Amino acid sequence: MKNGVMMQYFEWNLPNDGQLWKQLKEDAPHLAERGITAVWIPPAYKADEQADEGYATYDLYDFGEFDQKGSVRTKYGTRAQLHEAIEALHANGVQVLLDAVLNHKAGGDYAEQFNAIEVKGDNRNEIIGKQRRIEAMTGYSFPGRGDKYSSYKWHWSDFSGVDYDSLTDTHAIFRITGKGKGWSQGVDSENGNYDYLLANDIDLDRPQVRRELFRWGRWATEQFGFDGFRMDAIKHMDYNFTRDFVADVRAACGEQFYVVGEYWSGDIDTLEDFIEHTGGTLDIFDAPLHYNFHGASEEGSSFDMATLLDGTLVERHPELAVTLVDNHDSQPGSSLESSVADWFKPMAYALILLMSEGYPVIFYGDYYSENRVASPHRHIIDLLLDLRRSHALGEQTLYFDHPSCVGLVRHGVANVPGSGLVLLMSNDLAGNKEMSLGPLRAGETWHEVTGAVNEDVVLDAEGTATFTVPARSLAVWIRKQL
Ligand code: CA
Repeated sequence: MKNGVMMQYFEWNLPNDGQLWKQLKEDAPHLAERGITAVWIPPAYKADEQADEGYATYDLYDFGEFDQKGSVRTKYGTRAQLHEAIEALHANGVQVLLDAVLNHKAGGDYAEQFNAIEVKGDNRNEIIGKQRRIEAMTGYSFPGRGDKYSSYKWHWSDFSGVDYDSLTDTHAIFRITGKGKGWSQGVDSENGNYDYLLANDIDLDRPQVRRELFRWGRWATEQFGFDGFRMDAIKHMDYNFTRDFVADVRAACGEQFYVVGEYWSGDIDTLEDFIEHTGGTLDIFDAPLHYNFHGASEEGSSFDMATLLDGTLVERHPELAVTLVDNHDSQPGSSLESSVADWFKPMAYALILLMSEGYPVIFYGDYYSENRVASPHRHIIDLLLDLRRSHALGEQTLYFDHPSCVGLVRHGVANVPGSGLVLLMSNDLAGNKEMSLGPLRAGETWHEVTGAVNEDVVLDAEGTATFTVPARSLAVWIRKQL
């Protein structure tokens, strides 16, 4: 959404109390008032156990409605509560984006035997030993739901790989063999072929599987009124599937249906390959920018701030970049742990919320709490959200020209009086920089609004002034209302 702000409304360590949808419903007016325009909700359908975050997906059609896997509700609540949350968000003009996990399924109902061959973990193109009969939980009968919403039952032939053989009690990656079976080719090349991530890997090349997942995409959107999807783990999925899935749901629900994909790679060339294959039809999280933030926060004053945007999606493909600081996978203790240190987070949020490029995401853990510990960043994020709406407008000039002190100017727009701002950040000593708003702003008095700097500055005849920032901090300057 143009000039929108997304919030990732969950973190990894939320309590398993079934309260998230209720909380989200009650929070809807506040989110709208803060300027949040879309909420990314976690996988809302039944996982292999109630405590799971949703990524160990069991039944895509059970949004907390059927007694399956030990409960009716999911970690986050019931289907009825989810409907209520969506209704409240829509009533407040906030979009709802569902996390769609289509790479794998977990928690099969019964074991099946089939032929497979073991492959090496770090090179899935290299086989170990001979094809043999193995047994795994690849049968899905959905006993609690039956045929409601879909009569499709999943079998081993719908998957391309598993990670366990119960006949020999072996934990390894097994590629399922047989006619038409094999890893998808349109996937990331890490580990030789990164089709397989975990659990029962869905065979997205299989026509009946494609049809069933396309049908689910339309069904979920029609049932719940989702405004878009966040597609999980797409580096492990054939890019042809991803492209066609997005096209199919848009054909049914409208071209405005929003999709952002999680292609988690810090390598911009890899992301550009994916963009080429999918024709730029979906947005992508700017993982390279996240890794730059992470590196900057780890390296401290030795990090060259002038390179902060180098090799990022927001630099190369700003129209597709969803900019983030942290998420449920990068937070401490998670699978891809690479969290941005607290001292740097205000700078990272200032950049993604105040720069003109990118669609920023605020992480629940950074705004509310992580593992039930309140975030120290809520106040600054609230301030930045206000500034984004009232001041971060108009043309932009970047000043990424110094190893420790960098910034940007937003020049404002004529129809919002007093709009425009100056952002300055330092990862070392206190700094200053001469920055210009242009001669039309000559003589204006500007002041700093985060509380970092007390003295005002007056723009000279060229609209230029020397702005200051404290050590290891940020400063945001706006025109002072005299
Ligand atoms: Ca896969």
